[in-house]
Amino acid sequence: MDAIAVLGLDALPYRYLKIYAEKGIAPNIFKLQNIHASYRIRAIPPITPASWPSIMSGVNPGKHGIFSFSGFDKKTKKVFYYNASHLMHPRITEMIAYEGGTVLSVNPIMDYPIFPHKNLTIVSNMFFTPKPLSYPKNLIDKYFSTEVPLPKNKTQYIKYLDGLEALLEDYLQNPPKLIWINLNFPDALYHAIPETLNNPEKVSQIWRRIDKIYLMLKEIIGNVIIVSDHGFSRHEIRISINDILIKHNLAASKSAREEYLTHKDPNEFRIVKINPRVMRFLMKTGLKDRFISPVVRRVVKPLYEKLTKKKLMFGSSYYIDVHNSDVIYPTLNSFGVYVLNSDKLEQALSVLKQYEGLSIVEYKGKIFNGRYLDRIPDIVIIPDYDKGYVLGPPDIVGSVYNKTITYDHDLWGSMILDLSDTDSINLEYLNSLDYLENMMVGPIVQCMLGYPLSIDVDSKSLIEKSCNRDLSYKNYRGKFLVSKKLAVRKT
Ligand SMILES: [Zn+2]
Repeated sequence: MDAIAVLGLDALPYRYLKIYAEKGIAPNIFKLQNIHASYRIRAIPPITPASWPSIMSGVNPGKHGIFSFSGFDKKTKKVFYYNASHLMHPRITEMIAYEGGTVLSVNPIMDYPIFPHKNLTIVSNMFFTPKPLSYPKNLIDKYFSTEVPLPKNKTQYIKYLDGLEALLEDYLQNPPKLIWINLNFPDALYHAIPETLNNPEKVSQIWRRIDKIYLMLKEIIGNVIIVSDHGFSRHEIRISINDILIKHNLAASKSAREEYLTHKDPNEFRIVKINPRVMRFLMKTGLKDRFISPVVRRVVKPLYEKLTKKKLMFGSSYYIDVHNSDVIYPTLNSFGVYVLNSDKLEQALSVLKQYEGLSIVEYKGKIFNGRYLDRIPDIVIIPDYDKGYVLGPPDIVGSVYNKTITYDHDLWGSMILDLSDTDSINLEYLNSLDYLENMMVGPIVQCMLGYPLSIDVDSKSLIEKSCNRDLSYKNYRGKFLVSKKLAVRKT
């Protein structure tokens, strides 16, 4: 196969592909032939900073080193925030570049800093990067305005897509081996305006614009793959892990002052703390879901963000006491607990296993493997999204199960194979699978392009069965670790 273009659409749920096809919002992406060539992708944990590296590198978070937005350092008892310097395994974009293939990489996650290579063209200006970066350096000025776009600002977002199209037009004069573009759409939009999950026609302008880029890739490259890093759905019960720990004397609470830990850089947030009794009253009476949350989401939060450039969060006025707890769930999207007193490990596991609404409660070593296992919570917890459960923030709220509507990620992302050349891939085998692990996506693309896979790939036997050619393996880690020393942090 000569070349492949991958378009990453963050959070595009498998469940909605058919629905979006019926609505006709992006007729090229959701054409009937594509719906028949679509696959369910499972992401554990279902979170952007961990799932994209798993998709792109072919290895699990224990090997690539990124588990969520933030992790917890048990020695210092402090939260740290992941960026690309924590990435310990190269992505497909990098591996192919090392093998001599030319690659266009737009918004590789993690997206900051970027690691230049002579065969790589990199643009990073959409997800988490504090400033727009590119390699070569002039691409940002040439094609993009400096703002990092958010889809809720339609005009700005379409301007970004115009810039991307202009870049592609120039770049495709001499097509590379691989184009991999990640967009924060529809995820950022689902979070900001959850109605757009069921009513994508509300943002049909953006969908149509992305569909045009898809068509352009299809016409020039021929082989196009759509992939998403997790799903998205509406959940009704929020589980407070720290309330479980407190109930079983595994953790202690205290009044939340400056010690509140956020899942993203604290400088980006302002937290308003509310007494849990007040919060419970608002939840029980339905006032929160029916009146307060919609107004806060539509008016208060956007206004606050506009005025201060910081996000507004609401939390409980009680928080976990990091210094007097044996086990803690430190931040939203921790997807597990850190055991600070190892004598309590077994007890913590058996306590958490008793609770309904958690589909995975397991020692990390039973789910993940690799030399960076120490970055992963000791006990991994995944809620039962399919039954409407979601993990709440670390706040102590006084009850374990809290009935409140939450729009959040779930495990089921999607992949669509729109290929003009299918010789190298065993579609019959792929079709027989109930779902694919996210770690299989990158290696499948590498197989199609005819490059050696990383010796570290997970799901080796599944990939070998999916691939119609003899696979070879290579150790790419050393090169990657060296290339990280050339990281570009500012322009
Ligand atoms: Zn995502």
